Amino acid sequence: MMKKIIIAILAAFPVFNLFGQQFRSPDGRLAVELSCGDGQPAYTLTYDNTPSIVSSSLGLVLDCADFSKNLSIDKDGIRIDTVQVEYSLGKIKKSKVSHKAVEAVVPFTSAGKPAFDLILHISDNDLAFKYRISRIGDHRIAQVREECTSFVFPDGSTTFLCPASTPMGGWKRTWPSYETKYEADGEMGHNGEGYGYTFPCLFHLPQAWVLVSETGVDGTYCASRLTGRGGSRYDLGFPDPAEMNGAGSACPMIRIPGETPWRTITVGTDLSPIVETTIPFDVMRPKYSSSREYVFGRGTWSWIIGMDAWTNYEKQIEYIDLAEALGYESVLIDAGWDWRIGRGRIAELAEYAAGKGIGLYLWYNSNGAWNDAEGSPYDRMDRSKARREEMAWLQSLGVRGIKVDFFGGDKQEMMQLYEDILTDAEDYGIMVIFHGCTLPRGWERMYPNYVASEAVLASENLYFFQQSCDEEAYCATLHPFIRNSVGSMDFGGSALNKRYGGNNDSGNFRKTSDVFALATAVLFQSPVQHFALAPNNLQDAPEWAVDFMKSVPTTWEDIRFIEGYPGKYVILARKSAGKWYIVGVNAQEETVQTTIPLKGLIDKKTVRLYSDDTDLNGSVKEVRTGRKNQIEVKIPCNGGFVIE
Ligand code: CA
Repeated sequence: MMKKIIIAILAAFPVFNLFGQQFRSPDGRLAVELSCGDGQPAYTLTYDNTPSIVSSSLGLVLDCADFSKNLSIDKDGIRIDTVQVEYSLGKIKKSKVSHKAVEAVVPFTSAGKPAFDLILHISDNDLAFKYRISRIGDHRIAQVREECTSFVFPDGSTTFLCPASTPMGGWKRTWPSYETKYEADGEMGHNGEGYGYTFPCLFHLPQAWVLVSETGVDGTYCASRLTGRGGSRYDLGFPDPAEMNGAGSACPMIRIPGETPWRTITVGTDLSPIVETTIPFDVMRPKYSSSREYVFGRGTWSWIIGMDAWTNYEKQIEYIDLAEALGYESVLIDAGWDWRIGRGRIAELAEYAAGKGIGLYLWYNSNGAWNDAEGSPYDRMDRSKARREEMAWLQSLGVRGIKVDFFGGDKQEMMQLYEDILTDAEDYGIMVIFHGCTLPRGWERMYPNYVASEAVLASENLYFFQQSCDEEAYCATLHPFIRNSVGSMDFGGSALNKRYGGNNDSGNFRKTSDVFALATAVLFQSPVQHFALAPNNLQDAPEWAVDFMKSVPTTWEDIRFIEGYPGKYVILARKSAGKWYIVGVNAQEETVQTTIPLKGLIDKKTVRLYSDDTDLNGSVKEVRTGRKNQIEVKIPCNGGFVIE
């Protein structure tokens, strides 16, 4: 009891000590300490008094002021509050979020005048912070030349990072598009391919795990990244000037008063807080309310198996019928529909689908003039008038959503385009998926009609490269800890074809099992999933696999990390409509053999277990949970399991 009271007091008031001001999470275990020794603003972050971030710089360099040095903390101006974070959001990993957080406003001054306020939001495993500028003389705008936030990790940490790609590199000069590979347990001290690392960034410390990201980025700022500065130091970095073929600015312009997006750091002694965090959404608010009920759910998508050639009227009829047979809610028609099918016949398809209660998603090129990406329609999403005309037409057809592809990087101008597309689409009741794009940063909460983004080496690579098929399990074991932890991920997976090809007799070989495909339908989170199932799967795939894919949900009430290690294997549970699904996949040579306690998840005498034998042949059986209420599972390499 006494300990609880002391922790409560510690949490409620900043501790003034020799070094600076300390602020603690509601449970007292996560502590951020701010200091200004020699005028240099800095912070450290500890969990259970063990450093997660060792002393790291803070500050902003603006065109009109240098707030990176000669600063002081205005101790008398500090305000601190305990807040209850409470909201419902049916399209993220957890539909009802409820916990306490400590919020603090810490004013920094420069020569006696206000510099910036550092705004802190500290929940039990998350620190979010941002800079707010209230006044600089008569200035009404400022360019942020540099944000001096850095992240220095303890010695002995390893990294799980994804290099930002060369601007204007890649296919049709479409990079960067967050489609590079994560390296598991990499060493510190590098800077990717010279352009830093895209968020989120995972670090394995000697005694903790730390996930660094950002949230709340819209057209008022650029999207940021981490730049490796050698040793264990990483700095917040801005987009490369060469993005958008050099157009736009790498440095954001802000209004005064104004603020930066939130920088977020999630810390856990195990991986549960990393997998289960809701910090990208906790600190955001909806940018507009919607009177509409958006329909999430499952869909079919021909392009992933048949590519452009299948974007024709007859195939799309087949895929609408497939969606109906599976009980799905939508069909995604990919690039080139405007000339391969034609607008008139798209209207016919929309009507045919509507007759079955199925909605269409249509693909768009975001260009514009930021890369050479082929694929039409283009010139429909980059400017307001054309975009709104197009969306009015889509609405008249009852089209449910759009998938907009091939964006031009992370500069502020491009972030404004994402926001404009979402905002206009809301006016016409249209949901939005982004591809060839940046990471979503709190958008699930900010924009009611936002669905998901690619920003991952998604299923198309399984079609393109055998190597991606060979590494499918490895990548799948990374996403729940990193990319998919901070935002909905449009992956387009769960193929049951043996090969990525039209007739299942050509194309790259899938190395993962059918149970693996089922498991990833739960493992990967997005409120809308267009699965890579093909019409032939109704005949040639195991009946139990098709039946599971018919019933799998895409929206979730809750999540529980069970065990795993990024790059090796992962086991987690998600709950939908009161029912837990426990799933796992394994990328390691050796079979994972473990016992899963069902306490707090499932309280039944028997459960249904989908699992693989050593040759990756799947089967489903009813298994007794026994007196100990637990289940033994074995996951062979490239295999999976599902318990429901
Ligand atoms: Ca892509």
